[in-house]
Amino acid sequence: MKGFGIDNGALPGENFEEFGRDLEESAKIAKMLQDAGYDALDSDNGTYESWYFAHPPVYMPKACNLADAQYIKKFVDIPVICAGKMDDPEISAEAVASGSIDAISVGRALLADPEWANKVQTRHYDDIRPCIGCHAGCLERFFSGKDTSCAINTMVCETTERYWSNCSYEHRSR
Ligand code: SF4
Repeated sequence: MKGFGIDNGALPGENFEEFGRDLEESAKIAKMLQDAGYDALDSDNGTYESWYFAHPPVYMPKACNLADAQYIKKFVDIPVICAGKMDDPEISAEAVASGSIDAISVGRALLADPEWANKVQTRHYDDIRPCIGCHAGCLERFFSGKDTSCAINTMVCETTERYWSNCSYEHRSR
């Protein structure tokens, strides 16, 4: 059995001893945050010492934090939002429609395709330019002290004027 600690993460399916906060403790913390007045909980796995689970890399499956967010929702009355590769519209819609979570949040999906929400809303799923979970353009640059970008969308952090002048998607006229 491998031991994992700070900056050492397990891959899916690996046998490992878990360090850090577990689900039992997380449920207690969720209730404490609710009692302290939090309006909602944006839930994922990972900490500052294991960031790869907060924004899961390429080898992690879609919606990899969903089961844990659904677990946390059983302990609170405030809305629970699930983050972490929730950019598959069908998985996310089904999770919210079932009532097992209240909403999803996406970050990198919007770097890869700023029109993600519009394309989901209009059911243009095949037009979405998906985040590939590479971290090369966003976190790698961030940790190198460079501007955030995206490996598949180099228009990130460019000016609004330059973005719209290069955007060919139909929603640019909105
Ligand atoms: S660089 Fe772009 S495609 Fe790669 S993980 Fe970051 S947002 Fe996703």
